[in-house]
Parts: sequence; structure tokens; C-alpha cells
Amino acid sequence: METYDALLAAITPVSGETRTIFDPATGQPVGEAPVHTVQDLEAAIAAAAAAQPAWAALGHDARSAALLKAADAVERSAEELARLLSREQGKPLNGPNARFEVGACAAWLRVAAGTPLAAETVVDDGETRAELHYRPIGVVGAIGPWNWPMMITVWQLAPALRMGNAVVIKPSEYTPLSVLALVEILNQELPEGLLTAVAGGRDVGEALAGHPAIGKIMFTGSTATGKAIIKSSADTVKRLTLELGGNDAGIVLPDADPRAIAEGLFWGAFINTGQTCAALKRLYVHDSIYDAVCEELTNVAAAMPMGNGLDEANVLGPLQNRQQFDIVAALVDAARESGARILLGGNPENDQPGNFYPTTLVADIADSNPLVAEEQFGPALPIIRYGTVDEAVAMANALDVGLGASVWSSDPAEARKVAARLEAGTVWINKHGAVDPRIPFGGAKQSGYGLEFGVEGLKALGVPQVING
Ligand code: NAD
Repeated sequence: METYDALLAAITPVSGETRTIFDPATGQPVGEAPVHTVQDLEAAIAAAAAAQPAWAALGHDARSAALLKAADAVERSAEELARLLSREQGKPLNGPNARFEVGACAAWLRVAAGTPLAAETVVDDGETRAELHYRPIGVVGAIGPWNWPMMITVWQLAPALRMGNAVVIKPSEYTPLSVLALVEILNQELPEGLLTAVAGGRDVGEALAGHPAIGKIMFTGSTATGKAIIKSSADTVKRLTLELGGNDAGIVLPDADPRAIAEGLFWGAFINTGQTCAALKRLYVHDSIYDAVCEELTNVAAAMPMGNGLDEANVLGPLQNRQQFDIVAALVDAARESGARILLGGNPENDQPGNFYPTTLVADIADSNPLVAEEQFGPALPIIRYGTVDEAVAMANALDVGLGASVWSSDPAEARKVAARLEAGTVWINKHGAVDPRIPFGGAKQSGYGLEFGVEGLKALGVPQVING
């Protein structure tokens, strides 16, 4: 698209019911989103089912070529997409935020297009020859959250399309414009009907998860909604990839250098203003360096500017919605009342129009405190003191979720030993939350099942078929 206004105009409904989307930084309107219904969903699924066989028949090379062109289209409109994302979601243009997210969309499309997936010969012993192939599923449903709306949508649709499927997307009701705009751009390079976003509410999500023509649901969102989707998909025995909530622990070992790790700890916890599934949400620090880590982290955090995302100076933004602001505020207030020490923040200005919650660090907090035990999904990090590594590992593993975790140490071999003891889908060493389109990503325990990214991610969007002859 030539301009931001042209992009917004292209996704503004010309008829039907609409809903105004407001900027979480200012409270000002961003644009009008359609209010799609279950009837709209039916039409999208029918179009997808009609377009899918020809797309599947193209084969991997032609589909990959189309995805590479779609990545080019995203890059051509990158600045307009980033601006809309910033205004709707709140994240700044600058820093690891809106421009970074749009760049990731192109990167994930390119890697999904370029990852080889050949049939595997499983047995070939002269008597038996068995090959394992991955066939298209058909129509895939993609249901996503509001924190990284464009990037997570691409995580879902890129492998699905590459594997020969059509996709119907149900974006979060908080961030429909970003996803509609992304789909508008991708559709410049894709056959009609193959990819549609249906911007409806929970009823549309439920209908998608139960629809007999949908072969698989890619879901990213809360654990509670993931459980609802398991139930509504049961009657049609759908395949599911569930990327659910997390409450990632980081363990700082006694030999870590507090100053060297402070910036990594900060971004691990506060990327996207803490609204990230695999962000560091509980930090366990050994008693011997606890005060030094608190001090270094406070210095880094205090210097990071928060404000309107369109201002290039800012690297942190508002919370996307008032509900999330209220959750974070209630958890920090309860922590303060329990006697925990607020090192930084914890004092939002209540007379401002935006959902800004200040960067908050909370020390001397009990492991059982709700700010530790629940997913805060915002800019408030609890820092818990521990005495022995066994104690830290036990606290890290005590919850029923296990998306990511991290170990921080000057001794990588020692860090790996601790990493092996953590119950999480990914354990990072001296970093947290770094995702890569080539590296499988998924949760343990109630953080979900199934893998995204890399060749494992492609396989998850196919039906395995054995040819045994
Ligand atoms: P959410 O579960 O409230 O909503 C996600 C989506 O599900 C929305 O599009 C919503 O409309 C839809 N939905 C709601 N009820 C439904 C139902 N019964 N059937 C079908 N669809 C339904 O999640 P959210 O608040 O948008 O996102 C935040 C949560 O997502 C956090 O817990 C976060 O940790 C998690 N998350 C996980 C990952 C991951 O990769 N594991 C990534 C991002 C976010």
C-alpha cells in the first residue's frame, strides 16, 4: 500500500455493522473494524474449501514461491503495517516492537517457504519399503491473541499455507485491524478465498473450533481458552496445536555477573511491555548476588522510556487494554500490601487517557504471592531470593505451566545442567524469550502441546501418511 490511509481504507468495511477500535495510548479512535458473524465464517470456510485443492496441487515449490512474494509484499508495506500495529496494539514503532514484529512476519514467511521437507524412507530392507509423507490437511483455523497479533498470525498461517492448506483466521477482538491489514497485504500474492480473516468475537472462535470442515486449529492464547477449544474440537477429532499461557521462571546462579546480565534480564521480562507469552515472569536470584542484581536491573529499567508508540524515543508502551491494566495493578497492589518491596514503579497515574502502567520491579516477595504464582502479562517483575539451586529449581517447576525458562550464569556447562532440570518447552541460557523461525517452539505442561517453527512446525500442518509397499 502506498500510504497508511490507503491501508486503513482498504480494510474499512463499506457496509454491515462496525466497531470502533481505540488507541490504548491515547483513547483516540484508530479505525472501524467489521463485526463478522458466524454466517461470515461459513462463507469464509466455503471459499477456503473451494480454493484449497488447486493450491495443494501447485506443489511445494510454487507455494513457496508465492510465500516469498507475500514476504516481499509485507516488506513493501512494512512502515504502514507497523504504524497501524503501533496504534492498535500500543507497542512502539521503535525497539523490539512494531517494526520488529512486521520484520518477523516477513522472516517467518521466508523460512516457512525455504525449509525443505522431503518424504522420509522409514524402512527399506529389501522386503519392506515404507515411506512417510505429509499431505495437506484441508482448511486450517487460526485463532490468535492481541499481544503480537501480526507475528503470531504469520506463525500460524505460513506453515499451513506452505503445506497446501487454506486458512481461516479469527483474530483477537482487541486487535482485528492489524490482522485484517496483514491479510489484505498477503492476499496481494495469494489466490482468492485461500486466506480470510473473520473479525468476530468468541462465538465465531467457538464455531470455528467446532466446524466439521476445519481439519486443524492453530491456537495461541490463554490456557483457559485452550481448554475450551479442546472441548469444542472433540466431536470432530480435530488436530490441535496449542500455544497457551506461561509463567516463565529465570534462575540467576551465584556465579552470574549482575551488570553483564541486567539488560538481557530486562528485555527478557519487559519485551512488548511484558505482554509476551514467553517473557520472564518470575526471577529467582541467589542470595549472594540478590542485592546487586536488583540494583543493576533497576538502573537499566529506570532508563527505558515508556510512552506513545509513535514517538521514536519510546521503547515501552501502554497495556493493550484496560482489563489487562487492572490485572497488573491488582497484582502489584496485593504484593505491596503483603510487605514486598517496590524497587521501581508501582504507581500508575490514574488521570491519563492511556493504559500506561509503569515499569515495576518488586523485591523481597514470597514465592506464593499471586504476582509470582499467576501470569501477570504486563510490566511488573517479581524478584525472589533463593538459597540453594535445588530450592530454585523446585520453585521454578512448581507451577502447572511450562512454556519457557532461563538460566543465567558465567559457566555455560553448569547452566546447561540446571536447564535440563527445568520443566519447560524451551530453556534459554543467558537470554530469555528469543524465538527463531528455524528452531522448534512449544510448551510443556499446561502451556500447550504441538510444536511450531522449523521442519517440526511444517509437519504439524500436514497429515502423516505412510506408503508401505
Ligand atoms: P484469549 O485466550 O483470551 O484469546 C485468544 C483468542 O481466543 C481470541 O481471538 C479470542 O477471541 C478467542 N476465544 C476466546 N474464547 C474462545 C472460545 N471459547 N473458543 C474459541 N476461541 C475463543 O487470550 P489473549 O488474552 O488474547 O492472549 C493472552 C494469553 O495468550 C496469555 O495467557 C499468553 O500467555 C497467551 N499467549 C501464548 C503464546 C504462546 O505461544 N504460547 C503466545 C502469545 C500469547
